Amino acid sequence: MEEEIARIQKKLCAIGPMHPGSISYQYQVCGKKGCKCKDQENPQRHGPYAKLFYVHKGRKTCRFVRADCVEQIKARLEAYKTFRKLTDRWIELSIKIAQDEFFSSDA
Ligand SMILES: [Zn+2]
Repeated sequence: MEEEIARIQKKLCAIGPMHPGSISYQYQVCGKKGCKCKDQENPQRHGPYAKLFYVHKGRKTCRFVRADCVEQIKARLEAYKTFRKLTDRWIELSIKIAQDEFFSSDA
């Protein structure tokens, strides 16, 4: 288990920029008169716009991502998921190790 922890630590060091959250896409209707988004027959709404939602320290945040940054932010969301997966596994292993080392078997 110590070996696996060492591997996790190494992988954690290699993680680059990260960001929590997930992206959803939205279409919108604007305020312009006679715009195609309000067409009676065939409305073509604007978008899709990428919207990032995340929770940090209990605070929910929602922001539109600049179109030219969507791929970049997606890479950061992936990095964050990897970070969480690795730290969860590290914690899991640490609990197992502690069970063997520090605690008596009776509940
Ligand atoms: Zn419009």
